[in-house]
Amino acid sequence: MSKVGRTFGVALATSTVLTFGAALMLACVACQAADGSITAIVGATVIHPERDLPSAVSPDSTLIIAGRRIESIGPASSARVPAGATLIDGKGKWVVPGLIDSHVHFFQSGNLYTRPDAADFNAWMPYAKEVERNKARLPATFKVWLASGVTGVVDIGGPFWNFEVRDAAAKSPAAPRVAVAGPLLSMIDRVKLDLGDPPIIKIASADEARALVRRELQRKPDFIKVWFIHRQGDDLGAQAAIVKAAADAAHAAGVRLAVHATELIVAKASLRAGADFLVHSVEDEPVDEEFLALAKRRHALYCPTLFVTLGYRYALSNTWQPTEAERRLADPQILAAMNDLRNIPREMLPERVAKAMHQPAPPRPSPIALQNLRKVWDAGIPVAMGTDAGNIGTVHGPSVFREMEIMTQAGLTPLQVLRSATSNGAKAMGMERETGTLAPGRLADLVILNADPLANVINLSRIHRVIKDGEVFVPDELIRSLPR
Ligand SMILES: [Zn+2]
Repeated sequence: MSKVGRTFGVALATSTVLTFGAALMLACVACQAADGSITAIVGATVIHPERDLPSAVSPDSTLIIAGRRIESIGPASSARVPAGATLIDGKGKWVVPGLIDSHVHFFQSGNLYTRPDAADFNAWMPYAKEVERNKARLPATFKVWLASGVTGVVDIGGPFWNFEVRDAAAKSPAAPRVAVAGPLLSMIDRVKLDLGDPPIIKIASADEARALVRRELQRKPDFIKVWFIHRQGDDLGAQAAIVKAAADAAHAAGVRLAVHATELIVAKASLRAGADFLVHSVEDEPVDEEFLALAKRRHALYCPTLFVTLGYRYALSNTWQPTEAERRLADPQILAAMNDLRNIPREMLPERVAKAMHQPAPPRPSPIALQNLRKVWDAGIPVAMGTDAGNIGTVHGPSVFREMEIMTQAGLTPLQVLRSATSNGAKAMGMERETGTLAPGRLADLVILNADPLANVINLSRIHRVIKDGEVFVPDELIRSLPR
């Protein structure tokens, strides 16, 4: 552990030096933030995603930020802008709360080499090298998130060094807020991911579950996470007892339980055992009244992650193409690696990949998952937008725009999607009193847009400025400052 910690510290320090010039430039744009100075966005349309139409939209408004927090929001005609405030012209612009991605993994990069348990490219690119790269690249990954308008993320499971990621983000001049879970309590082994600090740990009994939860609680996790894989022949009751032991131990310490459960019976068993957060869609069959009642009784959050399986299929068949937003906002180092399949000799390709490349079929989002999202939304269960970024084909940052576009295919309106990505995301972070909405006293985490996000969710990618903790960032400058 200490060795990992040291390496990590060094990596961050090096990168701080590399980006110091860029940081100065950013600081200049940001001007005054945490020091109590004032920024005023004058004459913008302010969106309150937690409200319904028409009260969700306040045209011609002035929003004043003092230090880290929002001081006031009101009609531009009556707002009094303090002398010396930094002015941002809000005419023809929209202001929304900073986006929150409620499901990401920093130990994964989104490239081909990041999940050898799914597609093993070790012969071409050793997995240990990939993970070292991901650690060293964290300051860049943080900036990519901010540039995409994302001011908060939940890393819902990874190695113990995940806790250092949260610390690094908190200390970084340009990073989203980060909530974390540690290693996943899993029903199955994932030996290919074990480099000494495994992200996934097999648990065979309730006692083992309690022991690992105890270890993680020492690091003050935001969630305990269970990877509830149920295969034919597995004893669902025995598995549920493990989940319940984890839930009880987490809840006794005031920590919530997040569960990966993609089948209806498994999701129900998770909710009965105490799950607070379902981190994926139910994909195998339509959710029923019993499921909806269980989720409501637990006040559970539901995160659909609709794009991630498509991302794997595009990337592993060499048909992955960046979206327009990804071309502008993704980490260029990751973009450059996304089509590496062209360069890898055929004999080094995993069997599955060789097959997929031979017969690539355009993947579609699961109709059942789409239908379930709509049912869950209509039942009043809070939905939190999440990408599962870091998985193969789902890049950190701008993949939020892919995810939100697919959510509209389920019949959610742009306002509903925006709510899932702001005020509901804040619930996932456990920060709903601090961020996710625009109101006096809230942290100044927000995005200024050049186009109306309620006309089309893709307009959430047309970002003029991102403000986090009162600091103003320019997306282009953040991306330009990344080491190539
Ligand atoms: Zn995940």
